[in-house]
Amino acid sequence: MFDAILIDKTDDAQTVTTSQLAPEQLPEGDVLVEVAYSTLNYKDALAITGKGPVVRKFPMVPGIDFSGIVRDSSHEDFKPGDRVVLNGWGVGETHWGGLAGMARVKGDWLVPLPDGISMRQAMEIGTAGYTAMLCVMALDRCGVKPGDGPVAVTGAAGGVGSVATTLLAGRGFEVAAVTGRASEAEFLRGLGASEIVDREELSGKHRPLAKERFAAGIDVAGSGVLANLLSMIRYGGRVAACGLAAGMDLPATVMPFILRGVTLAGVDSVMCPMERRLEAWRLLAQELDLDKLGALSVEVPFSEVIDTAPRFLEGQVRGRIVVPVAPD
Ligand code: NAP
Repeated sequence: MFDAILIDKTDDAQTVTTSQLAPEQLPEGDVLVEVAYSTLNYKDALAITGKGPVVRKFPMVPGIDFSGIVRDSSHEDFKPGDRVVLNGWGVGETHWGGLAGMARVKGDWLVPLPDGISMRQAMEIGTAGYTAMLCVMALDRCGVKPGDGPVAVTGAAGGVGSVATTLLAGRGFEVAAVTGRASEAEFLRGLGASEIVDREELSGKHRPLAKERFAAGIDVAGSGVLANLLSMIRYGGRVAACGLAAGMDLPATVMPFILRGVTLAGVDSVMCPMERRLEAWRLLAQELDLDKLGALSVEVPFSEVIDTAPRFLEGQVRGRIVVPVAPD
Protein backbone atom coordinates (compact mmCIF):
# COMPACT_ATOMS: atom_id res chain seq x y z
CA MET A 1 0.00 0.00 0.00
CA PHE A 2 1.11 3.58 -0.58
CA ASP A 3 -0.20 7.12 0.01
CA ALA A 4 -1.75 9.02 -2.87
CA ILE A 5 -3.56 12.31 -3.25
CA LEU A 6 -6.89 11.47 -4.78
CA ILE A 7 -9.27 13.94 -6.39
CA ASP A 8 -12.83 12.78 -6.86
CA LYS A 9 -16.05 14.35 -7.96
CA THR A 10 -19.50 13.53 -6.65
CA ASP A 11 -22.40 15.36 -8.32
CA ASP A 12 -20.88 18.86 -8.50
CA ALA A 13 -18.69 18.79 -5.40
CA GLN A 14 -15.00 17.94 -5.62
CA THR A 15 -13.23 16.07 -2.82
CA VAL A 16 -9.48 15.81 -2.28
CA THR A 17 -8.06 13.30 0.19
CA THR A 18 -4.84 11.51 1.02
CA SER A 19 -5.76 7.88 0.43
CA GLN A 20 -4.09 4.51 0.77
CA LEU A 21 -3.89 2.69 -2.56
CA ALA A 22 -2.58 -0.71 -3.66
CA PRO A 23 -0.50 -1.13 -6.85
CA GLU A 24 -3.39 -3.18 -8.36
CA GLN A 25 -5.56 -0.05 -8.32
CA LEU A 26 -3.18 1.87 -10.57
CA PRO A 27 -4.16 2.46 -14.20
CA GLU A 28 -2.75 0.41 -17.05
CA GLY A 29 0.81 0.85 -18.23
CA ASP A 30 3.90 -1.20 -18.95
CA VAL A 31 6.18 0.39 -16.33
CA LEU A 32 5.63 0.61 -12.56
CA VAL A 33 7.63 3.44 -10.96
CA GLU A 34 8.25 4.07 -7.27
CA VAL A 35 7.97 7.85 -7.13
CA ALA A 36 10.87 9.59 -5.35
CA TYR A 37 9.92 13.24 -5.94
CA SER A 38 7.08 15.11 -7.56
CA THR A 39 6.28 18.82 -7.68
CA LEU A 40 3.33 21.11 -7.20
CA ASN A 41 2.85 22.89 -10.53
CA TYR A 42 0.28 25.57 -11.35
CA LYS A 43 -1.76 22.91 -13.16
CA ASP A 44 -1.67 20.62 -10.09
CA ALA A 45 -2.80 23.49 -7.85
CA LEU A 46 -5.71 24.17 -10.23
CA ALA A 47 -6.59 20.45 -10.20
CA ILE A 48 -6.44 20.11 -6.39
CA THR A 49 -8.45 23.28 -5.71
CA GLY A 50 -10.87 22.57 -8.57
CA LYS A 51 -10.27 26.15 -9.78
CA GLY A 52 -9.49 25.07 -13.34
CA PRO A 53 -10.73 22.27 -15.61
CA VAL A 54 -7.44 20.35 -15.52
CA VAL A 55 -8.75 16.92 -14.46
CA ARG A 56 -10.63 15.26 -17.27
CA LYS A 57 -11.24 11.87 -15.62
CA PHE A 58 -12.22 11.13 -12.00
CA PRO A 59 -10.95 9.83 -9.66
CA MET A 60 -7.53 11.32 -10.44
CA VAL A 61 -4.12 11.37 -8.80
CA PRO A 62 -2.61 14.81 -9.61
CA GLY A 63 1.08 15.46 -10.30
CA ILE A 64 2.09 16.31 -13.88
CA ASP A 65 5.71 15.32 -13.31
CA PHE A 66 7.77 12.96 -11.17
CA SER A 67 11.14 11.29 -10.82
CA GLY A 68 11.56 7.78 -9.49
CA ILE A 69 12.90 4.26 -9.80
CA VAL A 70 11.46 1.57 -12.06
CA ARG A 71 10.17 -1.34 -9.96
CA ASP A 72 8.59 -3.45 -12.70
CA SER A 73 8.64 -3.19 -16.48
CA SER A 74 7.55 -5.05 -19.60
CA HIS A 75 8.85 -2.19 -21.79
CA GLU A 76 12.02 -3.08 -23.66
CA ASP A 77 13.79 0.20 -22.79
CA PHE A 78 13.36 0.00 -19.01
CA LYS A 79 14.31 -2.47 -16.28
CA PRO A 80 13.90 -2.48 -12.48
CA GLY A 81 16.33 -0.06 -10.83
CA ASP A 82 16.40 2.46 -13.70
CA ARG A 83 16.11 6.12 -12.69
CA VAL A 84 13.46 7.91 -14.74
CA VAL A 85 11.71 11.25 -15.10
CA LEU A 86 8.28 12.01 -16.54
CA ASN A 87 6.82 15.33 -17.73
CA GLY A 88 3.35 15.76 -19.15
CA TRP A 89 1.63 13.35 -21.55
CA GLY A 90 -1.64 14.12 -19.73
CA VAL A 91 -0.35 12.54 -16.51
CA GLY A 92 -2.23 14.15 -13.60
CA GLU A 93 -4.97 15.16 -16.06
CA THR A 94 -6.22 12.02 -17.82
CA HIS A 95 -3.83 9.41 -16.32
CA TRP A 96 -2.90 9.08 -12.62
CA GLY A 97 0.13 11.20 -11.80
CA GLY A 98 3.12 11.66 -9.54
CA LEU A 99 1.60 12.77 -6.21
CA ALA A 100 1.52 9.14 -5.03
CA GLY A 101 4.01 6.56 -3.81
CA MET A 102 3.70 4.59 -7.06
CA ALA A 103 2.76 5.38 -10.65
CA ARG A 104 2.07 3.01 -13.53
CA VAL A 105 2.63 4.64 -16.90
CA LYS A 106 3.56 3.93 -20.51
CA GLY A 107 7.28 3.36 -20.90
CA ASP A 108 7.09 5.49 -24.05
CA TRP A 109 6.47 8.49 -21.79
CA LEU A 110 9.56 8.02 -19.63
CA VAL A 111 12.95 9.69 -20.02
CA PRO A 112 15.97 7.93 -18.50
CA LEU A 113 17.39 10.39 -15.99
CA PRO A 114 20.81 11.56 -17.25
CA ASP A 115 23.82 10.81 -15.05
CA GLY A 116 24.75 13.81 -12.96
CA ILE A 117 21.15 14.82 -12.18
CA SER A 118 19.79 13.42 -8.91
CA MET A 119 16.12 12.51 -8.60
CA ARG A 120 15.61 15.55 -6.37
CA GLN A 121 17.37 17.84 -8.86
CA ALA A 122 15.18 16.42 -11.63
CA MET A 123 12.16 17.80 -9.81
CA GLU A 124 13.92 21.04 -8.85
CA ILE A 125 14.18 21.42 -12.62
CA GLY A 126 10.67 19.99 -13.08
CA THR A 127 8.38 20.70 -15.98
CA ALA A 128 9.17 24.42 -15.66
CA GLY A 129 12.90 23.91 -16.18
CA TYR A 130 12.43 21.37 -18.94
CA THR A 131 10.06 23.83 -20.68
CA ALA A 132 12.65 26.58 -20.27
CA MET A 133 15.17 24.39 -22.10
CA LEU A 134 12.62 23.69 -24.87
CA CYS A 135 12.30 27.48 -25.27
CA VAL A 136 16.08 27.95 -25.44
CA MET A 137 16.24 25.16 -28.05
CA ALA A 138 13.50 26.91 -30.08
CA LEU A 139 15.62 30.08 -30.20
CA ASP A 140 18.68 28.03 -31.10
CA ARG A 141 16.89 26.37 -34.05
CA CYS A 142 16.41 29.76 -35.68
CA GLY A 143 20.04 30.67 -35.21
CA VAL A 144 19.80 33.26 -32.42
CA LYS A 145 23.36 33.63 -31.12
CA PRO A 146 25.05 35.30 -28.14
CA GLY A 147 26.26 38.66 -29.39
CA ASP A 148 23.09 39.26 -31.44
CA GLY A 149 21.75 41.47 -28.64
CA PRO A 150 19.71 41.18 -25.47
CA VAL A 151 17.18 38.35 -25.11
CA ALA A 152 14.10 39.26 -23.07
CA VAL A 153 12.69 36.70 -20.64
CA THR A 154 9.23 37.53 -19.26
CA GLY A 155 8.06 36.21 -15.88
CA ALA A 156 11.77 35.99 -15.13
CA ALA A 157 11.33 35.37 -11.40
CA GLY A 158 8.90 32.49 -12.03
CA GLY A 159 9.64 28.81 -12.61
CA VAL A 160 10.15 28.80 -16.40
CA GLY A 161 11.61 32.32 -16.48
CA SER A 162 14.23 31.80 -13.77
CA VAL A 163 15.63 28.64 -15.40
CA ALA A 164 15.48 30.28 -18.87
CA THR A 165 17.44 33.24 -17.47
CA THR A 166 20.20 31.08 -16.03
CA LEU A 167 20.37 28.83 -19.13
CA LEU A 168 20.65 31.77 -21.55
CA ALA A 169 23.24 33.52 -19.37
CA GLY A 170 25.20 30.26 -19.22
CA ARG A 171 25.26 30.20 -23.04
CA GLY A 172 26.71 33.71 -23.04
CA PHE A 173 23.54 35.64 -23.88
CA GLU A 174 22.82 39.09 -22.53
CA VAL A 175 19.53 38.52 -20.66
CA ALA A 176 16.94 41.24 -20.08
CA ALA A 177 14.86 39.83 -17.21
CA VAL A 178 11.30 41.18 -17.32
CA THR A 179 9.66 41.04 -13.90
CA GLY A 180 6.82 42.58 -11.95
CA ARG A 181 8.77 42.10 -8.73
CA ALA A 182 11.53 44.69 -8.27
CA SER A 183 12.42 42.88 -5.04
CA GLU A 184 13.71 39.94 -7.14
CA ALA A 185 16.28 42.06 -9.04
CA GLU A 186 19.24 40.80 -7.00
CA PHE A 187 18.08 37.18 -7.34
CA LEU A 188 17.78 37.64 -11.13
CA ARG A 189 21.22 39.24 -11.42
CA GLY A 190 22.55 36.26 -9.47
CA LEU A 191 21.07 34.00 -12.15
CA GLY A 192 22.97 35.95 -14.79
CA ALA A 193 20.52 38.66 -15.92
CA SER A 194 22.36 41.71 -17.20
CA GLU A 195 19.34 44.01 -17.23
CA ILE A 196 16.13 44.11 -15.17
CA VAL A 197 13.07 45.37 -17.06
CA ASP A 198 9.95 46.44 -15.19
CA ARG A 199 7.00 44.39 -16.41
CA GLU A 200 5.02 47.68 -16.67
CA GLU A 201 7.16 48.59 -19.70
CA LEU A 202 5.57 45.69 -21.58
CA SER A 203 2.12 45.90 -20.05
CA GLY A 204 0.57 49.02 -21.55
CA LYS A 205 -1.25 49.43 -24.83
CA HIS A 206 1.16 48.28 -27.47
CA ARG A 207 2.15 49.95 -30.72
CA PRO A 208 2.31 47.73 -33.82
CA LEU A 209 6.05 48.42 -34.02
CA ALA A 210 8.13 49.84 -31.19
CA LYS A 211 11.86 50.59 -30.93
CA GLU A 212 13.87 47.45 -31.86
CA ARG A 213 15.12 46.55 -28.42
CA PHE A 214 15.59 42.78 -28.13
CA ALA A 215 17.20 40.23 -30.46
CA ALA A 216 14.84 37.53 -29.21
CA GLY A 217 12.53 36.62 -26.36
CA ILE A 218 11.13 33.85 -24.22
CA ASP A 219 7.60 34.60 -23.12
CA VAL A 220 5.57 32.95 -20.34
CA ALA A 221 2.93 35.69 -20.18
CA GLY A 222 0.96 35.89 -23.44
CA SER A 223 -1.66 38.64 -23.84
CA GLY A 224 -0.46 42.27 -23.96
CA VAL A 225 3.00 41.34 -22.67
CA LEU A 226 3.65 39.10 -25.68
CA ALA A 227 2.12 41.69 -28.03
CA ASN A 228 4.47 44.36 -26.66
CA LEU A 229 7.44 42.01 -26.77
CA LEU A 230 6.80 41.15 -30.44
CA SER A 231 6.70 44.86 -31.29
CA MET A 232 10.16 45.33 -29.70
CA ILE A 233 11.96 42.44 -31.44
CA ARG A 234 14.73 43.38 -33.86
CA TYR A 235 14.63 42.54 -37.55
CA GLY A 236 14.70 38.74 -38.11
CA GLY A 237 14.40 37.89 -34.41
CA ARG A 238 12.35 35.18 -32.75
CA VAL A 239 10.11 34.78 -29.70
CA ALA A 240 9.47 31.40 -28.07
CA ALA A 241 6.04 31.52 -26.42
CA CYS A 242 5.06 28.92 -23.82
CA GLY A 243 2.70 30.48 -21.30
CA LEU A 244 -0.35 32.52 -20.43
CA ALA A 245 0.47 34.03 -17.02
CA ALA A 246 -1.00 37.36 -18.20
CA GLY A 247 -3.78 35.85 -20.31
CA MET A 248 -4.49 33.59 -23.25
CA ASP A 249 -5.33 36.35 -25.70
CA LEU A 250 -2.85 37.95 -28.06
CA PRO A 251 -3.83 41.55 -28.92
CA ALA A 252 -1.07 41.99 -31.51
CA THR A 253 -0.79 43.05 -35.15
CA VAL A 254 1.01 41.22 -37.95
CA MET A 255 3.46 44.12 -38.41
CA PRO A 256 6.44 42.52 -36.58
CA PHE A 257 6.03 39.44 -38.79
CA ILE A 258 5.59 41.13 -42.16
CA LEU A 259 7.86 44.16 -41.73
CA ARG A 260 10.60 42.76 -39.49
CA GLY A 261 10.47 39.06 -40.37
CA VAL A 262 9.95 38.19 -36.71
CA THR A 263 9.09 34.54 -35.95
CA LEU A 264 6.76 33.44 -33.17
CA ALA A 265 7.56 29.89 -32.09
CA GLY A 266 5.09 27.96 -29.94
CA VAL A 267 6.53 25.69 -27.26
CA ASP A 268 4.60 22.77 -25.78
CA SER A 269 6.09 20.47 -23.16
CA VAL A 270 3.14 18.09 -22.69
CA MET A 271 3.04 16.24 -26.03
CA CYS A 272 6.57 17.18 -27.09
CA PRO A 273 8.13 14.33 -29.15
CA MET A 274 10.53 12.01 -27.31
CA GLU A 275 13.58 12.94 -29.38
CA ARG A 276 13.31 16.58 -28.33
CA ARG A 277 12.68 15.62 -24.67
CA LEU A 278 15.83 13.50 -24.60
CA GLU A 279 17.78 16.38 -26.10
CA ALA A 280 16.32 18.84 -23.55
CA TRP A 281 17.28 16.63 -20.57
CA ARG A 282 20.72 15.94 -22.05
CA LEU A 283 21.34 19.69 -22.41
CA LEU A 284 19.98 20.39 -18.92
CA ALA A 285 22.47 17.89 -17.47
CA GLN A 286 25.25 19.52 -19.47
CA GLU A 287 24.46 23.20 -19.03
CA LEU A 288 22.45 23.86 -15.90
CA ASP A 289 24.39 25.09 -12.89
CA LEU A 290 22.97 22.59 -10.40
CA ASP A 291 24.38 24.60 -7.47
CA LYS A 292 22.09 27.49 -8.43
CA LEU A 293 19.12 25.16 -8.76
CA GLY A 294 18.55 24.70 -5.01
CA ALA A 295 17.84 28.43 -4.68
CA LEU A 296 14.99 28.17 -7.21
CA SER A 297 12.84 25.74 -5.25
CA VAL A 298 11.24 25.15 -1.86
CA GLU A 299 10.28 21.83 -0.32
CA VAL A 300 6.72 21.05 0.73
CA PRO A 301 6.09 17.77 2.59
CA PHE A 302 3.66 15.36 0.91
CA SER A 303 1.28 15.78 3.88
CA GLU A 304 1.02 19.56 3.22
CA VAL A 305 0.44 19.50 -0.55
CA ILE A 306 -3.36 19.80 -0.36
CA ASP A 307 -3.21 22.82 1.98
CA THR A 308 -0.45 24.46 -0.06
CA ALA A 309 -2.35 24.38 -3.38
CA PRO A 310 -4.63 27.39 -2.68
CA ARG A 311 -1.72 29.45 -1.27
CA PHE A 312 0.27 28.66 -4.41
CA LEU A 313 -2.54 29.99 -6.63
CA GLU A 314 -2.62 33.18 -4.52
CA GLY A 315 1.08 33.69 -5.32
CA GLN A 316 2.11 33.21 -1.67
CA VAL A 317 4.84 30.66 -2.41
CA ARG A 318 8.16 31.72 -3.94
CA GLY A 319 9.94 29.43 -6.38
CA ARG A 320 9.19 25.95 -7.56
CA ILE A 321 7.71 23.46 -5.13
CA VAL A 322 9.45 20.10 -4.78
CA VAL A 323 7.52 17.34 -3.02
CA PRO A 324 9.52 14.44 -1.56
CA VAL A 325 7.40 11.29 -1.89
CA ALA A 326 9.89 8.47 -1.19
CA PRO A 327 13.20 10.36 -1.44
CA ASP A 328 16.41 8.53 -2.32
P1 NAP B 1 5.14 30.67 -12.24
O1 NAP B 1 6.28 30.09 -11.49
O2 NAP B 1 3.86 30.95 -11.53
O3 NAP B 1 5.70 32.01 -12.91
C1 NAP B 1 4.91 32.84 -13.70
C2 NAP B 1 5.54 34.23 -13.67
O4 NAP B 1 4.86 35.04 -14.61
C3 NAP B 1 5.38 34.96 -12.35
O5 NAP B 1 6.39 34.61 -11.43
C4 NAP B 1 5.51 36.39 -12.79
O6 NAP B 1 6.88 36.68 -12.94
C5 NAP B 1 4.90 36.37 -14.19
N1 NAP B 1 3.55 36.91 -14.20
C6 NAP B 1 2.53 36.61 -13.37
N2 NAP B 1 1.43 37.33 -13.70
C7 NAP B 1 1.80 38.09 -14.78
C8 NAP B 1 1.11 39.05 -15.56
N3 NAP B 1 -0.17 39.38 -15.32
N4 NAP B 1 1.80 39.64 -16.57
C9 NAP B 1 3.07 39.32 -16.81
N5 NAP B 1 3.78 38.41 -16.10
C10 NAP B 1 3.12 37.82 -15.09
O7 NAP B 1 4.74 29.78 -13.49
P2 NAP B 1 5.71 28.93 -14.45
O8 NAP B 1 5.77 27.53 -13.97
O9 NAP B 1 6.94 29.68 -14.69
O10 NAP B 1 4.81 28.93 -15.78
C11 NAP B 1 4.72 30.12 -16.54
C12 NAP B 1 3.66 29.95 -17.62
O11 NAP B 1 4.10 28.95 -18.53
C13 NAP B 1 2.31 29.52 -17.10
O12 NAP B 1 1.32 30.17 -17.86
C14 NAP B 1 2.28 28.02 -17.37
O13 NAP B 1 0.97 27.55 -17.55
C15 NAP B 1 3.09 27.97 -18.66
N6 NAP B 1 3.73 26.69 -18.91
C16 NAP B 1 3.56 26.15 -20.14
C17 NAP B 1 4.18 24.98 -20.47
C18 NAP B 1 4.00 24.45 -21.86
O14 NAP B 1 4.15 23.24 -22.07
N7 NAP B 1 3.71 25.29 -22.82
C19 NAP B 1 4.97 24.31 -19.54
C20 NAP B 1 5.16 24.90 -18.28
C21 NAP B 1 4.53 26.10 -17.98
P3 NAP B 1 7.54 37.94 -12.25
O15 NAP B 1 7.25 37.78 -10.79
O16 NAP B 1 8.98 37.85 -12.60
O17 NAP B 1 6.85 39.13 -12.84
